[in-house]
Amino acid sequence: MTIGTCYFPEHWPRERWETDVKEMADAGIEYVRMAEFSWAELEPERGEFDFAWLDDAVELIGEHGMQAVLCTPTATPPKWLVDEHPDIRQEAQDGTVKDWGSRRHYCFNSPTYREETARIVTAMAEHFADDPHVAGWQTDNEYGCHGTAHCFCEDCSAAFRDWLRERYGDAETLNERWGTSFWSQRYDSLDQLEVPQPTPYNHHPSHLLDYNRFSSDSVIEYNRLQADLLRDVNDEWFVTHNFMSEYGGVDVNEMREDLDFAGWDSYPTGHVQEADRDLRDAEFRVGNPDQLGLNHDLYRAPDAPHWIMEQQPGDVNWPPHSPQPGEGAMRLWAHWAVAHGADEVLYFRWRRCREGQEQYHAGLRKHDGSADRGYRDADAAADDLDDLDLDPVEADVAILHDFENMWALGPDRHSPDFSYWAHLKTYYRALRARGATVSIVSQSADLDRFDAVVGNTLYLADESLAAHLDDYVTGGGDLLLTMRAGVKDRANQLHEELTPGPLANLVGARVDQHESVPEQIETRATYDGETYDYRTWAEWLDADAAAVVGRHETGTAAGEAAITRNEVDDGSVTYVGLWPEADLADRLVTDLLGRADVPTTDRLPEGVRLAERDGLTWVGNFTEGAVGVDAPADAEFVVGDETVPSFDVSVVAAPAHELTVE
Ligand SMILES: [Zn+2]
Repeated sequence: MTIGTCYFPEHWPRERWETDVKEMADAGIEYVRMAEFSWAELEPERGEFDFAWLDDAVELIGEHGMQAVLCTPTATPPKWLVDEHPDIRQEAQDGTVKDWGSRRHYCFNSPTYREETARIVTAMAEHFADDPHVAGWQTDNEYGCHGTAHCFCEDCSAAFRDWLRERYGDAETLNERWGTSFWSQRYDSLDQLEVPQPTPYNHHPSHLLDYNRFSSDSVIEYNRLQADLLRDVNDEWFVTHNFMSEYGGVDVNEMREDLDFAGWDSYPTGHVQEADRDLRDAEFRVGNPDQLGLNHDLYRAPDAPHWIMEQQPGDVNWPPHSPQPGEGAMRLWAHWAVAHGADEVLYFRWRRCREGQEQYHAGLRKHDGSADRGYRDADAAADDLDDLDLDPVEADVAILHDFENMWALGPDRHSPDFSYWAHLKTYYRALRARGATVSIVSQSADLDRFDAVVGNTLYLADESLAAHLDDYVTGGGDLLLTMRAGVKDRANQLHEELTPGPLANLVGARVDQHESVPEQIETRATYDGETYDYRTWAEWLDADAAAVVGRHETGTAAGEAAITRNEVDDGSVTYVGLWPEADLADRLVTDLLGRADVPTTDRLPEGVRLAERDGLTWVGNFTEGAVGVDAPADAEFVVGDETVPSFDVSVVAAPAHELTVE
């Protein structure tokens, strides 16, 4: 387990590089990521390549015993290229052209840009084909950042029509699948289709869902072009990409198939500010362990490690507020990544830049080259992690997460308070507060490896999903399905049968009514003899095969069934027709884990979590006070001891459920 950094040698005088690279090696850095955004340096004029500077930097890194990770520079096509081919630029929905002068200004479906991409990627790959110091590649940078997974240009409309032809064949089929008799939205020919244009009111939901699918497919296809070109030149290289926190523009589960492993960019104090809740003071200093854990558990494939391509090194330029991270936070984040399955953590960036748009973004070194707070933390993390050689994380529980459900629910929120991610996090947080190890996987993933499964808002459902879940449950699996499951078909139309449509037999109940409830209306339900709060959404259930285990206690729903349980052979299906607050979520997941024989911990305090990997458990303290760990007498502390200071970590050779935290 090692650390790395991202370096931009082109930003610094050549005579400084030797010192920079030596200081990287001194800190225990193993990988140096470079060349991201450097197209204009690598090809100052069409066909005039200048690789000499990058050769020198790669050579220096090799001389100091480190490896280079190169990036394709396609996130920033240079000025001369945009001037030659202005048609490569993205368009916003209102027709505004996203011009050169920042980044990510290209369209994934531009045939011209795909040719230009192939040209620069091939030139770079061939140049470095036999370089022993290049370990692998990152394609592009943060696909879809700044809303750029969605483009509305003519090239995209043409590509969308081709995509729809492939899917539906003709207009009659599309009309039938989408349901276009509503508001005279019938098409006479697929030639009439466009990407969603500016309209007075909302768009047809099936049109939007397919546009989201198409946009994701466009990025995946564009990435595959790059990955294939790189592997054609040297199949020893790894190929990865740096995704973003809770990002929804691209189906990561699908794109990961074209990568050796996924990477993501972790900015804990930035991303935590996107949460729709009041933050604890400590969260501004260190982020939230579950927000980080969720992304690690999402980008990690079930059997493979993942990488952090960019780890926050200090204060950063883009969140609303940027307090200095707490003392030790940059070390804690590296530990937290490794605990959740990462094999490599690259800090972004090596040195605060004196030019351009990110001058307020810290590096491991200050802009005069001296060590910053992050450098000391990175150095300490490298020392801690150097001796570890760990197997991948093995999760007890899966949460099913599908991008299509999220896309379909986008225009169907039916309440300003509904949020796909916030609802998913209710269950994630509850599971993690009981020490469970979680994988976030697609709904078609192999489920047999998991003792328990939470099917999160399986909004679009068909017979094949029902059969897949039925196999899991009849095989002895314990399944919890959350609200808003089985509402629509894959084309985004309501099922003919009542909700949960094809999942009704499995659930053993149907939804009689649903309602979204504003915060000022009281919402309580009973479960197993106790009363609990819930929020935002209520379903009134009609149970047939299932037993009613929870009832609404308030409002018009009072007395109606809210939670059911269906025992199927050795397995069970619990259906939760509401959005539980934390206490009820805790009861629901502890019952689920109990049925599945997954050992649990006492309920952990906010900001303190355990993470288990290969026989070790990390106790992560994301709070402002110290916490104590009670471990079995023979359990060795690999890092730290029984007292975990604020923003610190202890690592103990014992399973999570054998620890108590106070
Ligand atoms: Zn476009």
